[in-house]
Amino acid sequence: QSQELSQAHIDYHVALQALQEHGTRMVCTGKMHTDRICRFDYLCYCSEAEEFVFFHSNSSVMLPNLGSRRFQPALLDLSSVEDHNTQYFNFLELPAAALKFMPKPVFVPDVTLILNRFNPDNLMHVFHDDLLPIFYTMKQYSDLDDEARLVFMEGWSEGPHFDLYRILSSKQPLLKEQLRNFGKLMCFTKSYVGLSKMTTWYQYGFVQPQGPKANILVSGNEIRQFARALMEKMNITRVEEAEKDGGSAEDEKEKEKKDDYIVVFSRSTTRLILNEAELIMALAQEFHMRVVTVSLEEQSFPSIIQVISGASMLVSMHGAQLITSLFLPRGAVVVELFPFAVNPEQYTPYKTLASLPGMDLHYISWRNTKEENTITHPDRPWEQGGIAHLEKEERERILASKEVPRHLCCRNPEWLFRIYQDTLVDIPSFLELLKEGMKTKPSLKKSKPASTVHPGRVREPQCQTSVQTTNEAKLTVSWQIPWNLKYLKVREVKYEVWIQEQGENTYMPYILPQQNYTFSENIKPFTTYLVWVRCIFNKNLLGPFADVLMCRT
Ligand code: UDP
Repeated sequence: QSQELSQAHIDYHVALQALQEHGTRMVCTGKMHTDRICRFDYLCYCSEAEEFVFFHSNSSVMLPNLGSRRFQPALLDLSSVEDHNTQYFNFLELPAAALKFMPKPVFVPDVTLILNRFNPDNLMHVFHDDLLPIFYTMKQYSDLDDEARLVFMEGWSEGPHFDLYRILSSKQPLLKEQLRNFGKLMCFTKSYVGLSKMTTWYQYGFVQPQGPKANILVSGNEIRQFARALMEKMNITRVEEAEKDGGSAEDEKEKEKKDDYIVVFSRSTTRLILNEAELIMALAQEFHMRVVTVSLEEQSFPSIIQVISGASMLVSMHGAQLITSLFLPRGAVVVELFPFAVNPEQYTPYKTLASLPGMDLHYISWRNTKEENTITHPDRPWEQGGIAHLEKEERERILASKEVPRHLCCRNPEWLFRIYQDTLVDIPSFLELLKEGMKTKPSLKKSKPASTVHPGRVREPQCQTSVQTTNEAKLTVSWQIPWNLKYLKVREVKYEVWIQEQGENTYMPYILPQQNYTFSENIKPFTTYLVWVRCIFNKNLLGPFADVLMCRT
């Protein structure tokens, strides 16, 4: 991967002239700074001032043209974390004429994606905040292809997982600190600034306690396609898939069973499982499977993914390493362990991931409820959960507490104290919980054909009415099947009909298996009814309502 910017591809004088004559052009998507991504021609960066520069000329474009609202609070979020005030993007403005008095610009010929990584030291953040959003932002703009250049502006060094960022493009990503090597003024011929937040599922608790995002827009399908693309780049073939060829179905089943294994993802420095060996033996005995351990300290990342991508179960302490569950095969089980006084329901990035529709993972959490089985570390530095720096009263309150109360990110000492405890896992209660949790595991074979295709609208909805007596009437509603149904095999097709008397604010809902029905209960003569009809596949795939029918008895 070359780090040089090949200046050969562009004619320097043509580029300089274009910049001087046309200035910078910006066109963005998004109504708010939190959902905005901007595309630029000739966005420049001044490494001395550490500022991006927009050059105004007669043919500059700046859409949206927000005036000084551009600073309230920013033009856009440079990371995928919503509205974080350390991650804002803006630029300075200059007239293009000022170029005459400035250092000669160096042009970047590549199509560039400019962004902030949020926390490149932490594997969960690497995947959730950076890799997935970068991957799908690149899918959104077709010129951000394999040749695109990533530029990371958060100012950190490469970090321990830089190889993962390298996978996303054939060109070496650039760090902020490297930009000054290219000169005092750099101009990006074509660039995109900002990241799609479409794939993120978790908010870290900056304004309200952490939890799943309010409006999750990603499904297991997109996560798994991302995982597959990454595995291809790492030259990993899933064991399961590689074994598909040859052998009868029976052989296959036998073999699969024999090769089933459990992965224990261990942490070697903090938040330890103190009786890991005992836990491993218990798992092997209980499930009659091989148990393998992996840890970020011992194996390369690709070799860990290789192992996880074929596993039936992944067992681990709460922690960033659990993000690797996105590489588990469908139908696998994720078992997350929580230290004493930490409520699993309040820390759910991995539960939320496993539960995304179509992710097809079975999630089980276990928490240490026995205080005698926890090892605390009050004397460590505060960021590893030490509490020695606190007032005596506060220390005693924390030590007496049996559960960390809800809190905001990121420096709550009670939270850090509890989450960095080591745990002796009580094996009998752990196995009991696991057995219990496995009972509700859906069989993948049964749930597999569940399609995600939604019904279209029902067609030609009609109503006919008749008056029987002065207080009896009938209302017949009929319709045709949705157009896409004739091309589908659907286990169960039902129709929902809503009937509302005009002027009333409630309606009566009915679920019907057939394409017509005559209503007589609660139907009054000489009354207007509003009728809505929609189709439902397999109980929960709702179609749209057809245009409302006005039916007068
Ligand atoms: N980590 C690790 N082994 C350890 C402790 C941490 O591999 O014993 C990794 C962890 O997976 C994460 C990073 O180091 O990528 C930071 O860990 P930290 O405990 O700060 O964050 P958390 O895991 O709670 O998100």
